Amino acid sequence: MNKVICDNDICTGCGVCYNVCPVKCITMEYDEEGFLFPIVNEERCIKCNKCKEGCPSLNELTNKNYEKPIAIGCWNKNQNIIEKSSSGGAFAAIAEEILKENGVVVGCVMDEDLNVYHTIANNEKELEMMHGSKYLQSETRSVYVDIKGLLDGGKKVLFTGCPCQVAGLYNYLDGESYNNLITVDLICHGVGSKKFFDMYIYEMNKKYKEKVTKISFRSKKNGWRKYTTKISFITRSDIYISAIKDLYMSCYLQRAIYRKSCYQCKYSRLPRIADITIGDFIGIDRKQIDKKSYQKGVSVVLLNNKKAESYFENIKTKLNWVARPLQEAVLSNDNINKTSIMPECRKNILKDNGSAKQLRDKYCKYKFRVHVANFFGEDIVIFLKKVVRWLKT
Ligand SMILES: Cc1cc2nc3c(=O)[nH]c(=O)nc-3n(C[C@H](O)[C@H](O)[C@H](O)COP(=O)(O)OP(=O)(O)OC[C@H]3O[C@@H](n4cnc5c(N)ncnc54)[C@H](O)[C@@H]3O)c2cc1C
Ligand code: SF4
Ligand code: SF4
Ligand code: SF4
Repeated sequence: MNKVICDNDICTGCGVCYNVCPVKCITMEYDEEGFLFPIVNEERCIKCNKCKEGCPSLNELTNKNYEKPIAIGCWNKNQNIIEKSSSGGAFAAIAEEILKENGVVVGCVMDEDLNVYHTIANNEKELEMMHGSKYLQSETRSVYVDIKGLLDGGKKVLFTGCPCQVAGLYNYLDGESYNNLITVDLICHGVGSKKFFDMYIYEMNKKYKEKVTKISFRSKKNGWRKYTTKISFITRSDIYISAIKDLYMSCYLQRAIYRKSCYQCKYSRLPRIADITIGDFIGIDRKQIDKKSYQKGVSVVLLNNKKAESYFENIKTKLNWVARPLQEAVLSNDNINKTSIMPECRKNILKDNGSAKQLRDKYCKYKFRVHVANFFGEDIVIFLKKVVRWLKT
């Protein structure tokens, strides 16, 4: 039987064990549901226990961050950046500063074969690929080893990723504190299955008779709040699909295809794990922002400690920003402080047979009223709800 480092239900696939093993006898492999897990070659294992000692799911970090971080609502002053970003472009402002200070940015990219992984950006061109949310798990590969090398050499490093990956980095660094490291975690509700994503891409290639070369899950063609998937090909023009019709996003948004550990995530809570937390500020008081800017995207930034507060001083000129009560951010964004709940359909959807379309239609098709609400937009829906309430009184 294969040596188990930690239980599959809590393993986040962070890859620390793979990075820490002194004899390199661990490989990270996709399981039948489409998630990465460590596989140990028992014959080569020297039983040093380093993988277990480094595993964040077995060894929880103590965290001195603020229980009540400072909440900021912001949107980038550069419209091109806003267009490329999933929210208000907070990430770009944070990342550009570290490059200016001759440091590097470590974050997630999707290559033209649609593989999603963490890599290191040394300049603005390399940073380009990191913009935008990729809603499946980013492979960390050997990034923790690389980061430690850079930090020890005195380089400034900005690490961005899902909170479990930030926890992974801290565990890999084994409590050593570095002034030249700054971390950013995303507010995260979960990562989707690579198996389901690959099925979806296979069906898209077939349907459009051409290879898909790029997916943007949060195109702003129809505005920030109407999630739209943009699919690019080699020669044919881009197509745009509303997320509630898109095979992958409709299952992802209904939380049906997440990694099991996401339903018991230790990091969707306060205090947050990273120095800075970023996400969508859906519930920002609308009086704080003009309608046009809201429709393009607003970021929430949580400053979780003193280091984050002083870092924000250096980047705030790039942003339109306003301090907001923490509660305003938490109320509209469950996953700041709550873990996603597993829906009933998650138990079977990734085990069942069928195409992505058949599985979506069987488990995750949106009801007609959701399509109607999506078509008209949330402002009209809120208005109609108010009218109905008023008529009832
Ligand atoms: C899997 C996932 C789930 C999320 N869930 C929520 C949520 O529940 N609520 C919420 O408010 N926000 C959520 N976000 C964050 C949100 O979608 C934006 O990524 C975030 O607000 C940053 O947007 P931005 O405009 O500042 O910059 P962008 O340019 O959009 O940010 C890009 C940043 O995201 C990182 N990134 C992209 N994809 C991944 C990935 N797969 N794994 C790790 N890092 C990645 C990049 O490295 C870069 O740091 C989620 C993001 C991801 C990737
Ligand atoms: S016990 Fe040591 S050698 Fe064996 S897999 Fe874990 S880290 Fe590698
Ligand atoms: S270190 Fe990360 S990938 Fe390895 S077993 Fe622990 S949680 Fe899983
Ligand atoms: S929900 Fe938690 S376990 Fe899942 S990817 Fe996000 S941080 Fe990691």
